[in-house]
Amino acid sequence: MSTFFKLLFRNRLAAMGAVVLSVILILVLITPLLPLQNPDITATADRFQKPFADGHLLGTDHLGRDLLSRLLHGTRLSLAVGISAALIAATIGSAIGIIAGYFGGRTDNIIMRGVDMLMAFPYILLALAIVAALGPGLMNALIAVAAVNVPFFARNIRGITVGLAGREFIDAARLAGMGHTRIILTELLPNVLPVIIIAMSTTIGWMILETAGLSFLGLGSQPPQADLGSMLGEARSAMISHPHTSVVPGIMIFLIVMSINLLGDGIRDALDPRLRSGALSRPRATTLVERTGDVPEATDDLLAIQDLETQFHVNKRIYRAVGGVSLSVKPGECLGVIGESGSGKSVTALSVMGLVASPPGVITAGAVRFRGEDLIDAPYESLRQKRGDRVAYIFQDPLSTLHPLYRVGQQLAEAIQSHHKISKAEARERAIQLLEDVRIPNAESRVDNFPHEMSGGMRQRVGIAMALANEPNVIIADEPTTALDVTVQAQILSLLDDLRRDRGLAIVFITHDFGVVAQLCDRVAVVYAGRVVEEGPTGAVLDAPAHPYTKRLIACVPELGGGRRMLSAIPGLPPVVDDLPPGCAFAPRCDKAQEKCRHIDISLAGTGDRSVRCLYPEELV
Ligand code: ADP
Ligand code: MG
Repeated sequence: MSTFFKLLFRNRLAAMGAVVLSVILILVLITPLLPLQNPDITATADRFQKPFADGHLLGTDHLGRDLLSRLLHGTRLSLAVGISAALIAATIGSAIGIIAGYFGGRTDNIIMRGVDMLMAFPYILLALAIVAALGPGLMNALIAVAAVNVPFFARNIRGITVGLAGREFIDAARLAGMGHTRIILTELLPNVLPVIIIAMSTTIGWMILETAGLSFLGLGSQPPQADLGSMLGEARSAMISHPHTSVVPGIMIFLIVMSINLLGDGIRDALDPRLRSGALSRPRATTLVERTGDVPEATDDLLAIQDLETQFHVNKRIYRAVGGVSLSVKPGECLGVIGESGSGKSVTALSVMGLVASPPGVITAGAVRFRGEDLIDAPYESLRQKRGDRVAYIFQDPLSTLHPLYRVGQQLAEAIQSHHKISKAEARERAIQLLEDVRIPNAESRVDNFPHEMSGGMRQRVGIAMALANEPNVIIADEPTTALDVTVQAQILSLLDDLRRDRGLAIVFITHDFGVVAQLCDRVAVVYAGRVVEEGPTGAVLDAPAHPYTKRLIACVPELGGGRRMLSAIPGLPPVVDDLPPGCAFAPRCDKAQEKCRHIDISLAGTGDRSVRCLYPEELV
């Protein structure tokens, strides 16, 4: 809740709207307590007094009634009617929308055709017709305004509900045996409530205007009762001779509607779940860099990640997702990065090209060097040119990385054309060639498929083809085979292996599966809680793991034909990275941990190509 207000008030216009609206609301709430004159008492002798006249701060109207008193009482009435109309319309409209959207089929059809019929009339005409039928009066105006706005809510909410009703969590609720009412109230309503609130906050102003419009025409509040619309209506005949009588209610309507709309927009932005996690500002094009300390020296590796630290600053909490990671690859080399989920593998990978969303991500130390050039703090244009061209990514879920509405060929062509000027026909040729490279059979016709027409394995190949599109020097593959079955996984791995042999591609392969590492990688780095705990040649690490964590990880992998062996899970959970212990992060789960392990900062030490971050490493054979 506090984040909501913080976000809301970061938006200056919304804050201004909130302040103006609160002042007006407080004024109308205490109106009966203020020493005001009776708004309805006429004194024809005092008619049309100018503002600041004796005893009448805002002057008087054509019947000598005090304008200030009428204004405050009128505003009170207008706001009450407008807000009630909005609440009624939102409640009834949303209920209709949820029922139509949730039950679907014939219920939906009948309800929505009724709503369509209401919407077929211009809504002002409809409101006039309703008041004409019911007779003039503020209550009837309220009913009319609420009624003409019901379809707006019903349509909006139905659309959202239809989308939600087909989702898995609703199916799960049904399978759990929940009744319709319970599903609607506990599963659907919380999801549509923000939309209802947003729709309401953006339409209240509009409903206040509509009520004022009806009163202006003499169909709403009846004399002598004042509301903003009727005050305007009565002032109409004296608009030229005594403009203050219409300016006063006019300014009030303007202030109310403006402040409600500004506030409504602010609420909409602050409630948007996509904006909530970060800030209201759009994510930056590259990760924010706030480096302290020295920048490490350049090395002769193709890609070198040096002492990289990436944190997430959420409110006052600091999540140290990557706490000083150093990794490097040479051309044609494959480095495996392995660790439990949440250990910081993806954040490390995304930091390389400045792809961690900021806010909340911040790179606080270290360097990432591509051919010696530091990419952190590089100008955006230079990073953009390398993204997808020199360093490309393959992500875990191919369905969410491909655009659902474009053919895969178009998407491949786009990946090429954003870095190279080539004609459409050439780009298509190249797309087909790429699909053949990743062994998609029948590439000629597959190139015109949409992502949903392909299987998971095919889509992942398209993802790989896209990463290869510009013949990059480095591919960072973030769990590219986790979503695939074992046979497809094997094919993809051998494909990547061929590519690196043929093209001298360097691969950083992120996974949580030692089996995959063994098949593909020359070297492996084991990460735990945002730090590398062991690194070395794959074979050597697999044969004789030095860090207790690595040993436990390997013990989790079943082996075909390996005989009977105890498979042991690692007890405990990975630590939460906003509260890391001072010593070894694995100590609480380690059966060899001593008192010392928990307190001192242990460095990554080793001989030759093996290194380990442990005070009591396993004996190396
Ligand atoms: P994995 O090794 O499974 O790829 P990640 O690199 O995705 O793990 O995440 C590393 C850590 O960073 C996790 O502990 C996660 O909770 C934290 N993290 C990731 N994104 C955010 C975020 N936007 N805000 C706060 N913490 C985050
Ligand atoms: Mg990940």
